[in-house]
Amino acid sequence: MNNIYNYDYDELTTLLEGYNEKSYRCKQIWQWLYQKKVLSFDEMTNLSKDLISKLKNDLSFDYIKIKTKQESDLTKKYLFELTDGNYIEAVLMMHDYGLSVCVSSQVGCNMGCAFCESGRLKKVRNLETYEIVEQILLIERDLNKRIDSVVIMGIGEPFDNYDNIIRFLKIINNPYGLAIGARHITVSTSGIIPKIKEFMMLPLQINLAVSLHAPNDELRSRLMPVNKAYPLNDLISILKEYIVKTNRRITIEYVMLKGVNDSDEHALELASLLKGMNVYVNLIPYNETSHIEFKRADKDIIMKFYDLLKRKGINVTIRKEFGAGIDAACGQLRAKEGE
Ligand code: SAH
Ligand code: SF4
Repeated sequence: MNNIYNYDYDELTTLLEGYNEKSYRCKQIWQWLYQKKVLSFDEMTNLSKDLISKLKNDLSFDYIKIKTKQESDLTKKYLFELTDGNYIEAVLMMHDYGLSVCVSSQVGCNMGCAFCESGRLKKVRNLETYEIVEQILLIERDLNKRIDSVVIMGIGEPFDNYDNIIRFLKIINNPYGLAIGARHITVSTSGIIPKIKEFMMLPLQINLAVSLHAPNDELRSRLMPVNKAYPLNDLISILKEYIVKTNRRITIEYVMLKGVNDSDEHALELASLLKGMNVYVNLIPYNETSHIEFKRADKDIIMKFYDLLKRKGINVTIRKEFGAGIDAACGQLRAKEGE
């Protein structure tokens, strides 16, 4: 049975039209789901008994469950149990400008990036839309607060689960849904070119982040196997198209790995690759994990890399660290319990 949270606004309207219901019913139902956050059809007291029984007949109201929470000062990591027994994680970050949640898009990931914990575990399956939406709903309910911004940077490659991610984006962005502004939502991809092409045609103002991590094909293919299918030149040229088409700036993620991609030459090569593009580079201090031998680049090396990019006229920031102590940094999430 399809879950009620799998429907975007237009899809639910169509379903209701099939029941001969007026279109304002959809708005009423969405207010119950996303503003009042009820947990059953029976609580939707302004709907007729007849409509409630049809909904119950056709749709499920299944919820994922919070299994454990781990907290540090500015971060909370949530481990969720899915209805089939799989596990995923999401991370809440408390910024001075508001609350932000990093959600997972798949159970595991097939992209196999050499430095990534999520990729170490192969993809088990895509998350359904409801399983992504409910990560946010459950955190909002847990805190009794609204989430201000969302990043899709947890476990999984969002553009390998494209349709469900787009539906999720429409739901959280809709004013009757979670009403999170598009400019407060960021999708991060390892660089799946056909999906970047589709994404740029959508009438959504959502931010795009691209994991680059290396300034040449030889190194990038070693770190990120996806580069063999979608090499750097092709990736950069689609990003240039994206910038022209959408008039939006792209975030370039670059994880700083000691002795691997952190030299002056790498910085200069990166600067020339990105020259003249409307991008900003986010240097990410690598979070070391016990299973993978990569080390974090030294602080002064990261600063030097930063300065070199700046001097070459590239917009650049160093990512503030969140939750390293509880393994809650984005990209360090695991799809397995108790590992
Ligand atoms: N699959 C998507 C989104 C999830 S990963 C992507 O790759 O973009 C989110 C970001 O975290 C990516 O830039 C990823 O390369 C980075 N990352 C992965 N493992 C990390 C680690 N241990 N420390 C820091 N960043 C990491
Ligand atoms: Fe998957 Fe992203 Fe990790 Fe690569 S970095 S393995 S694409 S989650």
